Amino acid sequence: MKYVYFFGDGHAEGNAKMKEVLGGKGAGLAEMTNIGVPVPPGFTISTEVCTYFYAHDKAYPPELKDAVAENLARVEQSVGRKFGDKEKPLLVSVRSGARASMPGMMDTILNLGLNDETVQGLAKHDERFAFDSYRRFIQMYSDVVLEIDREHFEHELFALRDRVGADSDAKIPAASLKELVETYKKIVRERGGKEFPQDVHEQLWGAIGAVFTSWNNQRAITYRKLNQIPDDWGTAVNVQSMVFGNMGDDCATGVAFTRNPSNGEHKFFGEYLANAQGEDVVAGIRTPLPISKSQVTDVGASSSIAEKSLEESMPEVYAQLEDVYKKLESHYRDMQDIEFTIQAHKLYLLQTRTGKRTGFAAVKIACDMVDEGLISHTEAVSRVEAGQIVQLLAPMFDAKEKSKAVQGGRLLGRGLPAGPGAATGRIAFSAERAVSMAKDDPVILVRIETSPEDIAGMHSAAGILTTRGGLTSHAAVVARGMGRPCVVGAGNLRVDYGKGELRSEGHEPLEEGDWLSIDGTSGEIIGGKLATKPSEVIQVLIDNTMQPSESETFRNFDRLLKWSDEIRSLGVRTNADTPKDARVARLFGAAGIGLCRTEHMFFAEERILRVREMILARDEKGRRHALDQLLPFQQADFEGIFRELAGLPVTIRLLDPPLHEFLPQSEQQISAVARDMGWGFVELRAKVNQLHESNPMLGHRGCRLAVTYPEIYEMQVRAIYLAACTVKKEGIDARPEVMIPLVGTVKELTILTEMVRRVGAETLKANGVDLPVIVGTMIEIPRAALVADKLGEVAEFFSFGTNDLTQMTFGYSRDDAGTFLPEYVDKKILKKDPFESIDQEGVGQLVKLGTERGRGANANLKVGVCGEHGGDPDSIRFFRTCGLNYVSCSPYRVPVARLAAAQAELEFKHYEG
Ligand code: ADP
Ligand code: MG
Ligand code: MG
Repeated sequence: MKYVYFFGDGHAEGNAKMKEVLGGKGAGLAEMTNIGVPVPPGFTISTEVCTYFYAHDKAYPPELKDAVAENLARVEQSVGRKFGDKEKPLLVSVRSGARASMPGMMDTILNLGLNDETVQGLAKHDERFAFDSYRRFIQMYSDVVLEIDREHFEHELFALRDRVGADSDAKIPAASLKELVETYKKIVRERGGKEFPQDVHEQLWGAIGAVFTSWNNQRAITYRKLNQIPDDWGTAVNVQSMVFGNMGDDCATGVAFTRNPSNGEHKFFGEYLANAQGEDVVAGIRTPLPISKSQVTDVGASSSIAEKSLEESMPEVYAQLEDVYKKLESHYRDMQDIEFTIQAHKLYLLQTRTGKRTGFAAVKIACDMVDEGLISHTEAVSRVEAGQIVQLLAPMFDAKEKSKAVQGGRLLGRGLPAGPGAATGRIAFSAERAVSMAKDDPVILVRIETSPEDIAGMHSAAGILTTRGGLTSHAAVVARGMGRPCVVGAGNLRVDYGKGELRSEGHEPLEEGDWLSIDGTSGEIIGGKLATKPSEVIQVLIDNTMQPSESETFRNFDRLLKWSDEIRSLGVRTNADTPKDARVARLFGAAGIGLCRTEHMFFAEERILRVREMILARDEKGRRHALDQLLPFQQADFEGIFRELAGLPVTIRLLDPPLHEFLPQSEQQISAVARDMGWGFVELRAKVNQLHESNPMLGHRGCRLAVTYPEIYEMQVRAIYLAACTVKKEGIDARPEVMIPLVGTVKELTILTEMVRRVGAETLKANGVDLPVIVGTMIEIPRAALVADKLGEVAEFFSFGTNDLTQMTFGYSRDDAGTFLPEYVDKKILKKDPFESIDQEGVGQLVKLGTERGRGANANLKVGVCGEHGGDPDSIRFFRTCGLNYVSCSPYRVPVARLAAAQAELEFKHYEG
């Protein structure tokens, strides 16, 4: 068993394909080494060791010690330094690295190998640098391995800075850093109860253990949950020789994206700090400087911009960096997120990975790369996470409203536009407050900087604002990943956590709960609420207030979805009950309606009275009379929908909910309705009580209503056929599909299908029209799935109602499961909320089996899914493997479903070979 993989001197034992074993970081380091990018040598301890570690009570495989020693010797050889040597000590970093990137979630330790002796070896050349590295190491090691809060160290550091009048760490003189190291060691002695470890091997194994242990720290667990990364993947550990960005003014460290991760622009984009070490940039402790000249002019108003870009301060190194980034992008054929360090004018790459990006950037980068000939249409489709595409539909601030607010003096400041989109909400100054306040109102999380502990708060916020940090700070990276509008580094604003205030000169301070608006596209911060307007895609597609030629975003959106349509075999329909929704969905590309619920049509003001008359009627005659009055309403609704969906199928579900949902419940309502209908109060209350069911979800509803009161469905069927005849006479091709809900036995379906056919034929005959109508059923009761072979002999189509099917298969009430489901997911009893994403193991098997059995009886059976799962990418992937014909989802999810269906197709084909 190989547990350790070396990289260095232009050759690595691993490569980019070995992410599972090496983790993303290790695979990237190996690949870069192999393609000739300068990388400090090191080795990767595989994720299999992590698995072993957790399976064996935190012990290592016995052969690991020797393997590490052997590889450490190779590194020593390569750099010509020795680990623990007094004269020329080798220092290493110990870095975590999971398969999927989890920025900042786990721990990394730099400068390991320093102790009171080795520090002298470094100090011979540069004392300031030696002690700067030592104090960093003690702090990081103590925080991560010895679990001594870093605040104790930072407190001393800040105090020292004040004492010596240094406005940044880089300006603290050597002698003071030396003293600081002594103070730090004292903190370790007092808080940790023993001396800071001087044995470099003890340091190394302590760090390795801490990195493996950090896989299970709280923030890593939360991050995995939010990003659906399996807990059992484990992390690798990378041990790598150090290069130093903190050795003087010809040194620097930075992070960069090969394209803009926020809007996708094809421009190298990044930030750096001179005379600093890696952590400084990402932690948002100092606001870093832009990397290129053009970036300086782009961002404009931010505070730190007066200083020099890397392009200006180190032109030769910048040129090297440009070569490297181009090499990496064309090698990986995707946008890369890189970390680098410059030591004495020499460039080293420390990380490369596929860059996280917003939905906007994802779509633009995919389309641009197609135009550049770098990737195919198919690859472009697989590059955009299906769920992310909804970002392109989100509202933005109305330009007029915004300029009014600015002129009215409400502009509080500007920061860096880190995550596009508009957000208005109430201010929360901590992640915990954001989580609790977000239950009532949208929240803007306002922080000096964010740290990995804040992710739950960031997730619940509508937008994020920080006053420090750059475009690659933690806040910016995480917000972009979550698709949250975000502004960072708003240097002219001051956050005072103690007073709970956000201050901007010349403005009243804002407090927790005050409204604030941030524009993540422009970086503006505006006091109060601000009105939004529809996104460009909506303006072009739905509102017709913008031309395609005016919006590149729209054109790319449209291209990507058309490429998806060429790939996918799964149809996409929509759930829509009104002509307006139907129209929106059609414009989004829905190929018909998969679920039109008729009960919503009963709630409008003039209708509900008739519905109540129908329900309360003393006999069938009374009921038929009320139904006759309802018919024209239903017919008109259906006509509207057929006109909107000319030539496309419309699946209409006959009445589904229990009748008492339409009845008044409180005494007050009852007396009002009694007055309207000319009934006595007591009499009406008695009737309502009589209709009460203790378990209405499992009660008298769906097709059961029609078995006892066939006249209700008869009216609906007549209305459907009449509507179809009417529009047909206008030259419109109506394609109704009548769907009978809540069927559990074949007999229910036969009785009602015969009724539909009979009433339909009568209506067609009376109107002298011929029209193909198909009749089918919803499969939402587990029994229906089991007897699907029999149902398939009668039905012309199935539509799986996966909401009810989930409810009844698990026996979880949809309306009450919120009280325990989150805990079920936490405790891993369930992988995911089964109402959000289909339970493939159980409910999904009913879909699969129902489809197979149904098709066994009727090879031409059309099978679809309606219900929330129709718009969920993971569920869509599953439905493709079941061989369904289409999914149906809400109008705004249609683009997501089109893209997800194409991706499902690609995966399916790949899997099938
Ligand atoms: P994360 O996963 O949080 O990004 P990394 O392991 O990438 O953590 O380390 C963070 C930063 O520490 C890197 O971006 C880099 O600047 C610095 N760093 C890590 N290893 C080295 C090294 N061998 N030499 C110099 N700097 C390093
Ligand atoms: Mg990193
Ligand atoms: Mg149902």
